[in-house]
Amino acid sequence: MTADANKETLGFQTEAKQLLHLMIHSLYSNQEIFLRELVSNASDAIDKLRFEALSDASLLETDPQLSIRVEADKDANTLTISDNGIGMSRDEVIENLGTIAKSGTAQFLQSLTGDEKKDSQLIGQFGVGFYSAFIVADRVEVVTRRAGAAVDQAVLWESHGEAEFSIEATEKDARGTTIILHLKSDCTDFSDDWRVRSVIKKYSDHISVPVLMAKPAPAVDPDAEEGATESVAEPEFEAINEAQALWTRSRDDVSEEEYLEFYKHISNDFEPPLKWSHNKVEGKFEYTSLLYIPTRAPFDMWNREMTRGVKLYVQRTFIMDEAEQFLPMYLRFVKGVVDSNDLSLNVSREILQQDPAVDSMRSALTKRVLDMLAKMAKKKDSEDYQTFWDTFGQVLKEGPAEDMANKEKIAGLLRFATTQGDAEAQTQSLDDYIERMQEGQDKIFYVVAENYNTARNSPHLEVFHKKGIEVLLLTDRVDDWLINHMMEYKDKQFQDVARGELDLGDLSEEDKQEQEQLQKDSEALVERLKVALEARVEDVRATSRLTDSPACLVVGDHDMGAQMRRIMESAGQAVPDSKPILEINSQHPLLQKLDQEADEDRFSDLASVIFDQAHLAEGGQLEDPAGYVARLNKLLLELSH
Ligand code: ADP
Ligand code: MG
Repeated sequence: MTADANKETLGFQTEAKQLLHLMIHSLYSNQEIFLRELVSNASDAIDKLRFEALSDASLLETDPQLSIRVEADKDANTLTISDNGIGMSRDEVIENLGTIAKSGTAQFLQSLTGDEKKDSQLIGQFGVGFYSAFIVADRVEVVTRRAGAAVDQAVLWESHGEAEFSIEATEKDARGTTIILHLKSDCTDFSDDWRVRSVIKKYSDHISVPVLMAKPAPAVDPDAEEGATESVAEPEFEAINEAQALWTRSRDDVSEEEYLEFYKHISNDFEPPLKWSHNKVEGKFEYTSLLYIPTRAPFDMWNREMTRGVKLYVQRTFIMDEAEQFLPMYLRFVKGVVDSNDLSLNVSREILQQDPAVDSMRSALTKRVLDMLAKMAKKKDSEDYQTFWDTFGQVLKEGPAEDMANKEKIAGLLRFATTQGDAEAQTQSLDDYIERMQEGQDKIFYVVAENYNTARNSPHLEVFHKKGIEVLLLTDRVDDWLINHMMEYKDKQFQDVARGELDLGDLSEEDKQEQEQLQKDSEALVERLKVALEARVEDVRATSRLTDSPACLVVGDHDMGAQMRRIMESAGQAVPDSKPILEINSQHPLLQKLDQEADEDRFSDLASVIFDQAHLAEGGQLEDPAGYVARLNKLLLELSH
């Protein structure tokens, strides 16, 4: 507390301090963005007032003409931005301007490296908001009064953008917020009317209320009557933006730049979006939507509480941010606006959950986004879709489980690494795969492993390499689960190459005979192995799926896959007991040697080693690694005799 009993000095939250410092230093080359942020906030404040006035018209007081006013004062070296929006109470000022409450800030700060150069690129992805005022100002005053509060209930907030801010009670006639920037000595160009005008023009055409600036003074007319020049008239103000909500305009009238600007306004994202879609729908339900696909993921994409959803307007009146009912969870990265003519102006989140109009809009918007993605994916020469996939693919993979109705559409958008590519990148679609299927092949084969190399080198792939059959290499944690939900794509079933009997489809007729012969020839060996490994395997059988490896493990048709098992175990969940099937390559010298082995002890050691190795080759952890090493060493020593 300072001497003035009314005035309180508070420290910024630690994070706010860090962020302020970083912002001031790193956004130096792009100073003018503070204007976008402040005008954007003013516009939000007016939106909120409009909304609250729906149920309480008295909030409009005697001043129903909503607008934002920008005044540059060269003499005082200040720039002032005022709005007659909702304003803030004392508590709200402290909450909103003293802390950084935005979700994701903590993650953002964690991702900082301490290297200013790298960090300044990072901050470009993060909405900097109100604090951007300190890029150009070394002192900022905010005078604000909440709509409906008494004239003497206003608040003055002030800060130099360092460690602290002060707050005191004051008076304010007009409701809303006035922000006075005392410009730094090297930022005086923002006290120049023309400079400010050109920046605001660029950032605010889409803002739905007029942004007013003083009309340029007319050139002095030497013939004017004396009296006229004497009185210093109040300057006249004029709107310098279009002042029409962007989505209400026709597509042809909106320039690409305006769409990009609007995106920044609604998303807090500095990176331009990848794509957008703007549509007016007429029919049973009438609404306009403008949906954007961002280029970058928000920091909190994996936080279940992340803010998501569209901005909802009803008949052009702002109703709420983050209306999450209009899109499914797996499209949570989409940003945008929906303006409905059918919903009531006093609609609430609870009502939205039950309204059939919302359901119908949700499925239409979902389809719209999926179509937008499909269109992007079709453009073979463009890298946009790959960018999208690398950023949001993991989220989209939640789709087939969440949205059965669009399962096939979503599946068509998925991208995988496969044995045909030599890189880890997920670039191949299921349609690409189907196009390359071998004659007679009726399944989409896949292998699941912890990482790319394990998948790529899996012994299960040997026969597929030999026959030139492509296999999807699945290494994301959700993949096994995803495939289980998809089951099939374009009537082709998915088949795990490590599950069940090998079945390559029609093309395997002659292989079947070979397989039968194999079984016969290796009957004795198989029986001996069954006995030796009884405790550890469900079954042992000879296979033709291996060409180089001695053996591999296969799970039963209805047993849980190895990856799923590991995920559930690491999540501390009980996993049903099931033993794998050991498949052997009886042509392999090691197994032929085993077949000849007369010493039962040695047979059992060798059998155990082969079993453990099969486990290791698929990326598994041995139950008894020390036992494995001991047995292997014993065998190695015997070798040297
Ligand atoms: P964001 O706009 O993303 O919420 P900002 O840093 O720009 O983040 O603003 C923080 C908060 O301060 C806003 O959410 C709002 O509650 C409040 N605020 C900022 N400017 C104004 C304003 N002109 N009128 C009323 N409230 C404001
Ligand atoms: Mg803001």
